[in-house]
Parts: sequence; C-alpha cells; structure tokens
Amino acid sequence: MIAGPCAVESSERMDAIASAVKAAGADILRSGAYKPRTSPYSFQGMGEDGLKILRETGDKYAMPVVTEITDPRNVEIVAKYSDMLQVGARNMQNFVLLTEIGQTRKPVLLKRGMSATINDLLMSAEYILSQGNPNVVACERGVKGFDPITRNIFDVAAVPAFKALSHLPIIVDPSHATGRPDLIPPCALAGVAAGADGVHIEVHNCPEEALSDGPQALLPDKYADLAKQIRQLARLVGKQTTTIAGEE
Ligand code: PEP
Ligand code: MN
Repeated sequence: MIAGPCAVESSERMDAIASAVKAAGADILRSGAYKPRTSPYSFQGMGEDGLKILRETGDKYAMPVVTEITDPRNVEIVAKYSDMLQVGARNMQNFVLLTEIGQTRKPVLLKRGMSATINDLLMSAEYILSQGNPNVVACERGVKGFDPITRNIFDVAAVPAFKALSHLPIIVDPSHATGRPDLIPPCALAGVAAGADGVHIEVHNCPEEALSDGPQALLPDKYADLAKQIRQLARLVGKQTTTIAGEE
C-alpha cells in the first residue's frame, strides 16, 4: 500500500497527509520532488528540499519512502533520501536512466509508459535487472485512450498478463489510470481482484490547493475506507497485508 500526495509541497502538508495515510494502514509514503510536468510552466517540484521533507516525514511515521527520479544525473541524490526509486510513465524508456538505476540496489517502482505494451514494460525492467539490480516492481497506471471521461484507460488485464510472463511483482495505480477520485475505489479493488501485489494511490487533504494532480486526489477519510476494503479483498485472494489493530 503506497500512498501520499502527488508532489511534496511543504513539511506541514506532508506531515498531515502522512499521518492520515499511516493511520489508514499505508505501508510506503510517496511524493514527488522532481515532477515531470506536461507544461514547462507548471510546478516542477521542490527538488532536494522536497526530498528532505519526504525523508524526515517518512522517518517520523516509520514509513519507507518512494519518489520519482527523472534525470540520470540525480541518481545519487535521490537514492540518498529515498528507499525506493520511482521511474514515471514518461521515463519508462529512458534507457540511460534505467541503466543508471540498475547499477544501484535500490528497489525500483517502474511505471508502465502511457503508450507502452506489456513487452515494452518487461524490456524496461530488463534494463534494470541486467545491470544487477533485481528489485523491480512494475506498475500499471493506465494507457492513453480516446475518451476524456477518464484520464487514461486502466488496463486491468495487464496485471495477470504481466504475471504470466514474469516473476516480478506488479501493482496498480488507479489514481493516474482514471484521474477521478470516484473511480479510484472500484479500479483499485479490480486491480487487487486481478492479482495486483500492491496499490498506489494519491491522497491529499486539500485537493483544491494541490500543486499537481489535485483533481484526482483522494481525501484521507475516503482513503481510509478504501484501504480497509483493499486489505479485506487482498486477504480473500491470498495476499498478505498489514494488520491494523481492531480490524477483522
Ligand atoms: C506520479 O506518480 O505522480 C506520476 C507522475 O505518475 P505517472 O508517471 O504514472 O504519470
Ligand atoms: Mn501524480
């Protein structure tokens, strides 16, 4: 269970969101300090200051942290602050980046490119594995579609299809796949039912003030309800989950 705001915005905001997702049972705290934005005029992330905030907050709540790396020149600095390196959809075929990351032994969250086939995703994983880093987790985050009603098309069949071809774990990201908070719960549960090994969700306590991906952010109380359902379903399909005191 990976959760947190799209971007690091301030230590106060990170603290409030981390406290909420930790209480809801999230295992790993996520947030971006280097944001790959479609427009160069959009908020690009806080950089190293953001990494420091994420690290401090993760330590405070005893949560490992994952953050996106967009530039092979930043491997050292991002690896210094983060427990897991995220390769975003836009960089899934940045082979220089993948090769550099493969030379570390950090776990990698490798997101499927928005127009990438499952074989493309596997080959990108191979770029990391072939450098000696075996710690790759793939992530289905939706592929480009034709219908603006959803941000992307959530390819739920990609989960079992990927598993049929690879021993690597694969998780789902219904936030970027759908772009809509109301569609996140059903798609998260569909992903778990299809065999996903984890769920990555963006959570924000004040989406209207978020500096990126506000419209798709799930509010903390909605995340808490969903997290409970995810754990119940995950156990039903034979997965191990975090146990929460007092929960069935
Ligand atoms: C993100 O996780 O905030 C992100 C940019 O995701 P993606 O690379 O899947 O678009
Ligand atoms: Mn995002």
